[in-house]
Amino acid sequence: MSGVTLKGVRKNYGSVTALEELDLDIEEGEFITLLGPSGCGKTTTLRLIAGFIEPTRGQIFLGDDDVTALPPQHREIGMVFQDYALFPHLTIRDNIGFALKERRVPNEQINARVTEMLDLVRLPGIEDRYPAELSGGQAQRIAVARAVAHPPRVLLMDEPLGALDLKLRETMQIELRRIQQELQITTVFVTHDQTEAMNMSDRIAVMNHGRLVQTGSAEDIYNRPSSRFVADFVGRINLFDASISDAGADADANMATVTLAGDAVVRVPNPSGISGDGACVAVRPEHLRISNAQLEYDTVNKISGRVIQKVFSGNFISVFVDTGGEKPALIEDRPENVAVEVGQEVTLWWHIDRGILLTD
Ligand code: ATP
Repeated sequence: MSGVTLKGVRKNYGSVTALEELDLDIEEGEFITLLGPSGCGKTTTLRLIAGFIEPTRGQIFLGDDDVTALPPQHREIGMVFQDYALFPHLTIRDNIGFALKERRVPNEQINARVTEMLDLVRLPGIEDRYPAELSGGQAQRIAVARAVAHPPRVLLMDEPLGALDLKLRETMQIELRRIQQELQITTVFVTHDQTEAMNMSDRIAVMNHGRLVQTGSAEDIYNRPSSRFVADFVGRINLFDASISDAGADADANMATVTLAGDAVVRVPNPSGISGDGACVAVRPEHLRISNAQLEYDTVNKISGRVIQKVFSGNFISVFVDTGGEKPALIEDRPENVAVEVGQEVTLWWHIDRGILLTD
């Protein structure tokens, strides 16, 4: 098993730049997810690590070995795709044992390993079935078993749960994570589903337009997004356009004073000293509080608006409030905490530490 290092990797397809420049260190045994919108370069990154394509510039290392020019069959990489890619004419035993047979491992050892792998993916006793006789979730477990039967240095997974329905997807997220942890295998996982990325990963690498825009734990990315793009892409969030009247760098412990649409003046932490135009204040919906407008609050961060919609989702209620901005503000809270009606004038407020000042 190995870590993976991408150094200054760029990939052009003719005039299309799929990856601008990628620097990424993946630790041995780490589960990292590449997350980003369609076309941002996730699959290209995976294909470069696998060796199916060559970088236009830069180097790729598995552990300390520079594999940039090494053909895929010599990289010892396991791959799992969305469409399972099992061999339909081979039994489950022969699918899982395929790489071992190619390496001329004796049949007895192959059979023992197949049994071990079927136990690992919790499908014992199905050696003699064919892929067509499996459900989608079972087929994907077999695809994982096949990818790790001859232990690879790195496991690459490209949207492996994309074809499954939501419930099965959630179960398989837990299963894949368990298997990865049991084997302690370095894993690079690709998805455009941010919940999936947060559920499974040690670290998430958010990509946009062929670049890495932020790398960190799910908590880092969710609570401390580094840009408007990351904040908006990962989870639901309110982005209030803001004009900075005082960046707060010298005067007051890095606390900026900004004016929002509708002329509300609020204060927001500004540890990185953001100034100039194009800023916004980001507040997660669960950190916005909503109250009857008549109540007086001793808080600096409040804005007024009118409730335009309430949506009951079981364990929480989403309230949409027109605050004069381009998009309505969204508040999520437990149903018993929300005592407002559609059409009502309300005050929204948040704890000063819950606001995040961002630029693009
Ligand atoms: P998706 O989530 O839709 O799979 P992705 O993030 O995996 O997207 P990539 O498949 O890596 O994105 O593609 C990145 C960019 O490179 C896109 O603009 C895509 O159109 C382009 N691209 C990918 N493969 C090729 C190719 N073989 N020839 C030309 N352009 C390509």
